[in-house]
Amino acid sequence: MDNCIFCKIAAGEIPSNKVYEDDKILAFRDIEPQAPVHVVIIPKQHVAGSMNEITAENAEIVSHIFCCIPKIAAELKLDGGYRLVCNCGPDAGQTVRHLHFHILGGKTLGAMA
Ligand code: 5GP
Ligand code: ZN
Repeated sequence: MDNCIFCKIAAGEIPSNKVYEDDKILAFRDIEPQAPVHVVIIPKQHVAGSMNEITAENAEIVSHIFCCIPKIAAELKLDGGYRLVCNCGPDAGQTVRHLHFHILGGKTLGAMA
């Protein structure tokens, strides 16, 4: 999708610090980390702007992302655990309208919200 920063990262037009990649998804370090480990996981295809656009027809990519998260967390050595975040819409502070999930960890995290 034009003017989508995560589509540009997926296409390699904007460089990123990759931690995991396969044919369907990419995980890279967040440019403004909110924790010692902060990784963003995206589908390479612009399948949805947010979780609100997930349907029975396109949910397979979410399943694939969730199946990959444990191995990404293991590669990141998040042995003490981690938090998975999906900001959906303005009240959640979503800034990039390309479906994505955050992995946060590397310390004992504070309470949410
Ligand atoms: P959201 O707030 O939409 O849930 O998350 C978007 C995330 O993308 C933010 O944490 C922001 O720091 C990150 N981000 C935005 N632009 C870039 C970029 O060009 N490179 C990287 N690595 N992260 C970005
Ligand atoms: Zn996109």
